[in-house]
Amino acid sequence: MATATAPAPAKPRHAKPKVPDQKMLIGGKWVASASGKTFDTTDPTDGSVICRVAEGDKADIDLAVRAARAAFEDGPWARMTSADRGRLLNKLADAVEDHRDELAALESLDNGKPIADSLAADLPLTSACYRYYAGWADKITGQTLPMAGPYFGYTRHEPIGVVGQIIPWNFPLLMQAWKWGPALACGNTVVLKPAEQTPLTALRVAQLAQDVGFPDGVINVVPGYGPTAGAALSGHMDVDKIAFTGETGTGKIVMTAAAQSNLKRVSLELGGKSPNIVFADCDLDAAVEGAYFGLFFNQGQCCCAGSRLFVQESVYDAFVQKVVAKAKGRTVGDPFSTETEQGPQVSQEQFDRVMHYIAAGQRDGAPLLAGGGRVGDTGYFIQPTVFGDVTDEMTIAREEIFGPVMSILKFKDTDEVIARGNRTVYGLAAAVWTKDVQKALRLANGLRVGTVWVNCYDVFDAGAPFGGFKMSGIGRELGQYALQLYTEVKTVTMAL
Ligand code: NAD
Repeated sequence: MATATAPAPAKPRHAKPKVPDQKMLIGGKWVASASGKTFDTTDPTDGSVICRVAEGDKADIDLAVRAARAAFEDGPWARMTSADRGRLLNKLADAVEDHRDELAALESLDNGKPIADSLAADLPLTSACYRYYAGWADKITGQTLPMAGPYFGYTRHEPIGVVGQIIPWNFPLLMQAWKWGPALACGNTVVLKPAEQTPLTALRVAQLAQDVGFPDGVINVVPGYGPTAGAALSGHMDVDKIAFTGETGTGKIVMTAAAQSNLKRVSLELGGKSPNIVFADCDLDAAVEGAYFGLFFNQGQCCCAGSRLFVQESVYDAFVQKVVAKAKGRTVGDPFSTETEQGPQVSQEQFDRVMHYIAAGQRDGAPLLAGGGRVGDTGYFIQPTVFGDVTDEMTIAREEIFGPVMSILKFKDTDEVIARGNRTVYGLAAAVWTKDVQKALRLANGLRVGTVWVNCYDVFDAGAPFGGFKMSGIGRELGQYALQLYTEVKTVTMAL
């Protein structure tokens, strides 16, 4: 019997990898947790278990810190020249590039991000970060000092020591590179706790680091939960510095633990509620593209998402019409299909959180212009959602949603939008769309944020520092600035 319609052509699709159960890396050995416990890491497209992962807690953190301390104080890493450290980081960059397809698939499996994004964004940014800091390794210098008396004075920039690093699930590979690149270039040893939702790529890159020759104990990875493994790391008496990326509330807990233990150095990359400001005199189509990308990229799970989209009133209607059409046309689905633009949220918890904010937007009376519901009945897929006529006091304009929910606000003039843009506890990023250079610079100066993009959004470069004003963080990652996070300054004074 003939069918009425021909079957649809198969969509191009990458294969989902099969992943064995995972151990943790301590002192160059792949080991089970001291307790023998494991946790499941799951596939966000359907909640199924990908594999079991060794679950670290205080006992494992203690062992990892001891291994990192031993590697810092004695052994090949302590004696290695800075040029050789750079060579190892370059080899790690090479290994990441050589395993690009495998790592991209693993990242998309564990996190749910579209494979096209993993390949086009996460992977090249990750290897570029390792390569950038490889270049710094033998260029970290102190100063000679203009002493007033008969003394010769100089500074040395020395590694801090054992560094604890805690990362989130939204860009697992990239956050690991932002942490490891500068820490290792400066000669520290590290204990990394990846997010419990996405431990797989951290463990695979640790294996690659071992393969290219990082000495035992320099890099340790202990997967586990925040209140157990994460808390043990941030409160550890023998960890010299803690670097954390995640929610502002967790950042406070980490900083408190650091203060109450040994006053370890702290750097924090936290949340945001970034204003993306569209002036009437901009290239409207470019601004629509930038607003769409700046919010929906990575399922909206970006700390710097342009989640307060301010549009000047004279172009408001035209802008909204265009951006809503784009949101409605976004392809949501299987991360392993090359046509997919948006995958699932990372977990049931994040799905629930985003749906809660969509309900809050409706309760506060913001018109729902697109989306608002889930996609399908398995997995954590959410429709690209747009709210118009949002006002500053609404919950969706104040709190970090971390999902595909766009809030559009109307504004009249420059002074007003600077004031409103700054009316938040956060200060991570902002963008301005205008053809008027003076206006762009006025906004760039007036906005109290760590990064301002002008006529672009989410442009990252390993050489460009990133971090927050106010409650968006402490310190700057990337660029030369990140070296300050991973070095102590020592002054040496010699009588002449
Ligand atoms: P989160 O704070 O819940 O978790 C981040 C990490 O902290 C995880 O590894 C988690 O296990 C650990 N953790 C949780 N509780 C802990 C505790 N008590 N002690 C020590 N560690 C603990 O954040 P998340 O939901 O995974 O990530 C999303 C957040 O991260 C968002 O707020 C986002 O804005 C932020 N983020 C910021 C940046 C940046 O550069 N500013 C980048 C990415 C994400």
